[in-house]
Amino acid sequence: MIRTAMASGLALALVLSGAVVLATAPDKNAPATAADADTFVAKAEKDLADISVDANRAGWINATYITDDTDAMAAEVSARQTELAVKYAGEAAKYLDVQGLSPDTRRKLDLIRNGITLPAPSRPGAADELSTIATKLQSEYGKGKGTLDGKPINGSDIEAAMGTTRDPAKLKEMWVSWNDNVGVPMKADYAHMVDISNQGAKELGYADVGAMWRAGYDMPPDDFAKMTDRLWKQVEPLYLSLHTYVRWKLNEKYGDAVQPKTGPIRADLLGNMWAQEWGNIYDVVAPKGSGDIGYDTEALLKAKGYDPIKMVKTGEGFYSSLGFAPLPDTFWARSMIVKPADREVVCHASAWDIDNKQDVRIKMCTKVNADDFVTVHHELGHNYYQRAYMNQPFLYENGANDGFHEAIGDFVALSITPNYLVQIGLLDKSRVPSADKDTGLLLRQAMDKVAFLPFGLLVDKWRWGVFNGSIKPDQYQSAWDALRLQYQGIKPPVARDSSRFDAGAKYHIPANTPYMRYFLARLLQFQFYQAACKQAGWTGPLHRCSFYGNKEVGAKLQKMLEMGQSKPWPDALQAFTGSREISGQAMVDYFAPLKKWLDEQNKGKPSGW
Ligand SMILES: [Zn+2]
Repeated sequence: MIRTAMASGLALALVLSGAVVLATAPDKNAPATAADADTFVAKAEKDLADISVDANRAGWINATYITDDTDAMAAEVSARQTELAVKYAGEAAKYLDVQGLSPDTRRKLDLIRNGITLPAPSRPGAADELSTIATKLQSEYGKGKGTLDGKPINGSDIEAAMGTTRDPAKLKEMWVSWNDNVGVPMKADYAHMVDISNQGAKELGYADVGAMWRAGYDMPPDDFAKMTDRLWKQVEPLYLSLHTYVRWKLNEKYGDAVQPKTGPIRADLLGNMWAQEWGNIYDVVAPKGSGDIGYDTEALLKAKGYDPIKMVKTGEGFYSSLGFAPLPDTFWARSMIVKPADREVVCHASAWDIDNKQDVRIKMCTKVNADDFVTVHHELGHNYYQRAYMNQPFLYENGANDGFHEAIGDFVALSITPNYLVQIGLLDKSRVPSADKDTGLLLRQAMDKVAFLPFGLLVDKWRWGVFNGSIKPDQYQSAWDALRLQYQGIKPPVARDSSRFDAGAKYHIPANTPYMRYFLARLLQFQFYQAACKQAGWTGPLHRCSFYGNKEVGAKLQKMLEMGQSKPWPDALQAFTGSREISGQAMVDYFAPLKKWLDEQNKGKPSGW
């Protein structure tokens, strides 16, 4: 199983997204028994485990040595793996109504049935048709180009340019060209794909594909939707304060003609193509005086002679300090920590679990800087999770739900506070920033972590509506714009008519990667962090807490991690935090000093849109 770093970009192409499942009609003549179901599950689990090791090996070689040959070998295994998952998902549906299933068999049948994101119906030709469309959409996205100064510019370059450009005319050009060039041509295919995959979901026993995705959370699909609404209500006031402040700063910078003092924020001014994270425009909103946090992690790392290996050793040291066993020798022998000089590799950071046992690895082109220092802690979080659940049966070797896996590394990375840097000898104690620098530290984080919340929520709100038919193809654009306005308080820089398809210009839509996991991970990481800090007896402001060195925290964390996906996620959450509910309150508590500061700045200024 491969775990990648973040929600944006092409990072997620390697997970099972885009895989197609073919349902087979149940055999009405021979009613299956609970014993048949046990036998089926045992065989499916063994076959899926075996092929996963082949796929991991081929995938690893391919990602660390890209040639035509390794491409072909990885594609071949991946196709066989998909075929097998397809076959077993269809067969698992056959046992749905069998009486007397054991809880484990019931759970594993659901995991097998729900193991693939895009189900095809059983009629002849449908699987090929769906697979062709899904591949075409992903490929179109990968080849997509916008323009800057009238010249074509590819996806990763335009993404970077949206972060650094401050000329509103150029931002508008990039935003409009990207959304028009990439989104519009996909629209008919996307609508067709929705129709076909919904038929497949019905054959597997789900109302539609959106309901199938929501079924992966150990509760009825409608209850899950309600839970996400409740979570949003908890964090909405925090987002509103940030929105009000940022809109004011953008108005100061660009003037009324570009960004009025009231109403929504123009979507292309926020430093990101989708306005999903705003950290790139921190320089525009940084408060005078407290914007500078007083030290530079990159300079500290370099002054102390850190190299990529020492960065990873330091990350390992954090987990060791919690009581986790050191990483195995094979981790150091087999990981790719530095970019090789002589061959093509996939540099995007990822964490791997090759044999579903001890053979964990990371793959990074590590640079000695602050971002990669955080990324190391993040990726190792995946490895420690993977190793903690290695004694579970294969189907349970996964995060408690798909939000948990991403949240572990991020939660540990939250502990990279100035005091932690002192503890590991990077920062001199006299240089720990005083409390008046907290605003800068927190605002910088909020620009990414808080700004993301409404976007993380609305991507699948839109998709749930598309899959259940409440959003028709001629409403794809208007519904997208309405959700962006309702939750994010942003609007496109130019009017969008119903021929547009801006949702298609976001990677995870054409790639069919479910998105609610990222919303959940944002909240869970703070919930884990607050729980750890409480266990460590921390009483100061939450954002200054580090639980480095606390073995009691480590022991509790281990209890959650080693469960994998063997029990409903509330059981896992309870094992570490004591709570059975995902909550936004920890994030609200973490940013409380910032919210107070924002509300003071916002006094007398219009709020909302
Ligand atoms: Zn990750």
